[in-house]
Amino acid sequence: MTIKSIAIIGTGFSGIGTAIRLKQRGIEDFIIFERAQNVGGTWRDNTYPGCACDIESHLYSFSFALNPQWSRKFSFQPEILNYLHNCVNQFNLRPHIRFQHEVIEATWDEAHQYWRIQTSQGIYTARVLIAGTGALSEPMIPKLPGIDLFQGHIMHSARWDHQYQLKGKKVAVIGTGASSIQFVPEIQLQVDQLYLYQRTAAWVIPRLDRVISKLERQLTSKIPIIQKILRWKTYILREALGLAFRYPWILKMGEILAHYHIKRTISDPILQKKLTPKYRMGCKRILISNNYYPALAKKNVEVITDEIQEIRSHSIVTRDGKERQIDSLILATGFHATDMPIATKIRGRNGTLLSDSWKGGPRSYLGISVPCFPNFFLIMGPNTTLGHTSVVLIIESQIEHILKALHFMATHQVSTLEVKKEAEDQFNLEVDQQMKNTIWSTGGCNSWYQDSTGRISAIWPASIATFRNRVEPFVSSDYALSRFK
Ligand SMILES: Cc1cc2nc3c(=O)[nH]c(=O)nc-3n(C[C@H](O)[C@H](O)[C@H](O)COP(=O)(O)OP(=O)(O)OC[C@H]3O[C@@H](n4cnc5c(N)ncnc54)[C@H](O)[C@@H]3O)c2cc1C
Repeated sequence: MTIKSIAIIGTGFSGIGTAIRLKQRGIEDFIIFERAQNVGGTWRDNTYPGCACDIESHLYSFSFALNPQWSRKFSFQPEILNYLHNCVNQFNLRPHIRFQHEVIEATWDEAHQYWRIQTSQGIYTARVLIAGTGALSEPMIPKLPGIDLFQGHIMHSARWDHQYQLKGKKVAVIGTGASSIQFVPEIQLQVDQLYLYQRTAAWVIPRLDRVISKLERQLTSKIPIIQKILRWKTYILREALGLAFRYPWILKMGEILAHYHIKRTISDPILQKKLTPKYRMGCKRILISNNYYPALAKKNVEVITDEIQEIRSHSIVTRDGKERQIDSLILATGFHATDMPIATKIRGRNGTLLSDSWKGGPRSYLGISVPCFPNFFLIMGPNTTLGHTSVVLIIESQIEHILKALHFMATHQVSTLEVKKEAEDQFNLEVDQQMKNTIWSTGGCNSWYQDSTGRISAIWPASIATFRNRVEPFVSSDYALSRFK
């Protein structure tokens, strides 16, 4: 059995970005495990109608693999997936990828100082393990009474069944988050009746999307500096927007805009009231759409805010006793964001399971390292999601840190790196301190940013600049080291 230097799990932005940066540094001795048949992560799995990015494409892409050919300001899923495929081909990553290799368990082998990785197609070993398994990768299926007894067609938005024809059907959608507001306007045009079950209304503002003209694309292609300037402009504007989450009074202006957006598109005052959030803007993800509200105002749509009591074989019953017959049930219920499934598969020193270490809520150093897990790096670990800008910026910073760690290991004959508990505690103290006055703490909502203990462990509370300053340097004294004998 040959020992690989590095094993990466996942082929989304995290896994692909890491692989590209390794190659750019001349490191070829790595392997990538992907459970699916192809690359793309989020953008491979989410194919629901209308699936698109909420961040401008010039920023939601790698700084080291710019794409001058984006056709829209905010790209749709097929174009982002195509971009990731192009990255894989351009940097010749395919020979490194093992498709349909699900990592079932990875265990730190103390005696040999490597990771023993049990995949669905055999055992591999690697000195360093990098998990790019995504925070929004595993669909959350709600535990609603009777859901298992439902006899109609059922699907999660992240596993869209394109074979099933929604035309002429009575369809229930549970959830009104980021995915729901994208596909609801699309399916409303097809279905006979749409019942939208809403627990909490979202703040929705207009989507300022537009086509990028051929001339603009030619210019960005021929004069690359133009694209860099556009990226910088978006970066700075979004960093400025990020201030609003830390100084929530700024968000009042956004609330005024959102109220106007509801009133302009919906005339029914009862529906207006149902769609007006009762918490402060920004506490949950702010959504952008021009066609969501108009779709909800259509005759074949009913927005239901009564709690679901039970799902029956062909219907949904709410607490007010109303039963609505349905043919299809679409779960737009999000993902296992803070209880990441990969944590149940990683065993560090003394067989410690990462999910056991995280029983009191997920914590890490820089969203990357966890004590007791040597030579293990997470990308998009705890406290790395964003509310205001592109997550790809976070991913790039974390990759930078990991590359520096690998370089340090190689140049100092280090066999294992393990983050110190004090360093992790210090980092989480800083995060919690910064989180205190943000809208996520004070906005009066429950959101997927909170874990089961109530701690906000999904989102990063400050700017990208702050994240970069904290994460990109490699501080070797924060790690315990052992050297090759
Ligand atoms: C619908 C949707 C829209 C989004 N829009 C935005 C947006 O507008 N802006 C933004 O910044 N972010 C957005 N996000 C967040 C998005 O998830 C991240 O931006 C980014 O794509 C995460 O990339 P990743 O590589 O970390 O994870 P993923 O893209 O989730 O990739 C993880 C990969 O790991 C693989 N994997 C997982 N477990 C295993 C295992 N055990 N063995 C082998 N392989 C495994 C998966 O199959 C997958 O390919 C969106 C997310 C969703 C779901």
